[in-house]
Amino acid sequence: MNDRVAARLALEMQLRDAVKAHQFVLHYQPRVDMISGEIVGAEALIRWEHPERGIVGPAEFIPVAEESGLIVQIGGWVIDRICAQQAAWIATNVPTVPIAANVSSVQLGHGIVATVQDALRRHSLDARCLHLELTESAVMHDVQEAARIMFELRKLGISLALDDFGTGYSSLAYLKRFPFSRVKIDRSFVTDITQNADDAAIASAIIAIAHRMGLKVVAEGIETEAQYEYLRTQRCDEMQGHYFSDAVAAEALESDLLSGRSIKSPAQAAQSAQTVLVVDDEAGIRSALTRLLRRDGYRILTAAGGPEALELLAVNPVQVIISDQLMPGMSGTEFFGKVKELYPQTMRIILSGYTELGVVIESVNRGAVFKFLTKPWDDDMLREQVRDAFLRYRPGSNF
Ligand code: C2E
Ligand code: MG
Ligand code: MG
Repeated sequence: MNDRVAARLALEMQLRDAVKAHQFVLHYQPRVDMISGEIVGAEALIRWEHPERGIVGPAEFIPVAEESGLIVQIGGWVIDRICAQQAAWIATNVPTVPIAANVSSVQLGHGIVATVQDALRRHSLDARCLHLELTESAVMHDVQEAARIMFELRKLGISLALDDFGTGYSSLAYLKRFPFSRVKIDRSFVTDITQNADDAAIASAIIAIAHRMGLKVVAEGIETEAQYEYLRTQRCDEMQGHYFSDAVAAEALESDLLSGRSIKSPAQAAQSAQTVLVVDDEAGIRSALTRLLRRDGYRILTAAGGPEALELLAVNPVQVIISDQLMPGMSGTEFFGKVKELYPQTMRIILSGYTELGVVIESVNRGAVFKFLTKPWDDDMLREQVRDAFLRYRPGSNF
């Protein structure tokens, strides 16, 4: 026990030095919207750059900082650092997002409102740039006083999140009594969510209750595509986790913000990809069109005839179809006649060397064909027509 006390005291002394010597850095973990896949926020996570031990994580020193009261100073530095970073990004036109600071219970009782106000004023920042995260235990200590402080922060325009939800007392009363905007589902429920029915039930229940109370739900610690997909289908709003990004240095977050980095799950990508179906009995034509249209980034499907194309349409979302007219078995206009019934919203283009104008004109007039183009085609003109077809495409309506 003596050893433990001595080690804790040593750590506390080193922490005091660390505060004076500016040995802390902030890493930032992006928060991602699960519908758009875009970065909509970030969380600042503190690291101690220890002169001998290298990077020390917060789990090791935050408890000591809290017990010794040093957290007030360290936490004040975190808030100031976030605001300085935000001001620098705004000044250089980086498309910045709100950044959240973790706040411990000790800070709540030590002028957090003034700390926040000062930092915002010093860096001429809008309160929307800063979010705060509190755990249940942080607000437990003195519920009434915590509520009063939180309403003051809310009045300043600061968004508040309830962190690690589900691990503490998990009382729904806190959701109701405090002005939270977000609930963060603790990582411990996410880890086994695709395997453990209890965890899945807890997560879905948290999501349902939070939504009923007008709160957004953030899942913490998503590491796999399966966890991401599962929570997305459960209507979880936002996520953080290794699956998208670890906590990273400011420069790395900056480059993600500048490049507009986003997440597209394979299921989402398939749904939203612009897809062209090419139908022609000549393999050479199919591959020439595939090569040409790939340049514009479309997903391309090909079929050698109408029946094969109808099979593809049954299992793939397709917006634009280009079909030959003269094909053995089923003609292009015949094929499009069926497609018009089955998938009326598709944009249908006949590309034909066969100038049986009468038939084609008739199917144009019946609304089965959107455009009639002739072979050999002009590359740029064809790309232009396909682009135009996508622009006119309306899901669920006929042209
Ligand atoms: P937290 O606020 O719940 O932060 C989430 C923790 O989970 C972070 O650990 C983060 O790096 C980690 N994490 C994120 N995604 C994943 C994932 O996909 N898999 C796994 N295994 N882990 C993931 P970190 O940075 O070690 O922070 C631990 C805790 O320390 C934080 O939990 C927070 O409570 C506290 N903390 C961090 N920075 C501060 C601070 O500036 N002030 C205060 N008071 N506490 C802080
Ligand atoms: Mg947090
Ligand atoms: Mg957490």
